[in-house]
Amino acid sequence: MRFLTIKKKTIVIILSVLITLASVISVAAITTSSMPKPEYTIVIDAGHGGRDGGAIGKNTGVTESELNLMYAKELQSLCEDYGIGVVMTRSDMNGLYDESATNKKKSEMERRKSIINGSGADIMISLHMNAFPLPSSNGAYVFYAKGSEQGLNLAKSVQTSLCQSFDNARQYVSVGDYFVLNYSTMPSVLVECGFLSNPQEEKNLQSKEYCEKFCYSLLAGILAYFEM
Ligand SMILES: [Zn+2]
Repeated sequence: MRFLTIKKKTIVIILSVLITLASVISVAAITTSSMPKPEYTIVIDAGHGGRDGGAIGKNTGVTESELNLMYAKELQSLCEDYGIGVVMTRSDMNGLYDESATNKKKSEMERRKSIINGSGADIMISLHMNAFPLPSSNGAYVFYAKGSEQGLNLAKSVQTSLCQSFDNARQYVSVGDYFVLNYSTMPSVLVECGFLSNPQEEKNLQSKEYCEKFCYSLLAGILAYFEM
């Protein structure tokens, strides 16, 4: 009887050791599989920053640079949740220029270009807010670099996705003569998310829900481009 009890105890110990080992192995497997090297990496470029605030909302005084950053961070978080690697050109309100540079615009552009092209990313998406003298102008616009076939494909993919979620998104894409598009070595798009010169859109763009919906729509366009 005593022998049997010891035997039972031994079996219980062996079993519990085996169960522990199995759970350690499965945790290790989960940890490894949940952190693979991302299949795709993107650069998210929040336009402007520092003393360059970009466009300003007339009613609320909100700056383009703060909204660009808000949208960039939301998109970053959504992309990372989907296992897409992200490189940000900026993650705070500071400008990308060297404080001691005499030509800060040039210094900023060079820094932006070097982050984008040094990232080794698959695509770049630059986020901006629009402004136009006519207050009724509204909706998201997507631009790509002249002559870039893949940039055009990416732009179409993003614009199609935006049109599915936003009635006022522009139905077509355009060539945009922007520094970040012209000097980027990867397929790139510049998204003007909406117009700060339109009172209703100025309000919408600052809402967390609108930002989440917009960035989710951008993500859907990116996923479609990668055929994910
Ligand atoms: Zn801008």
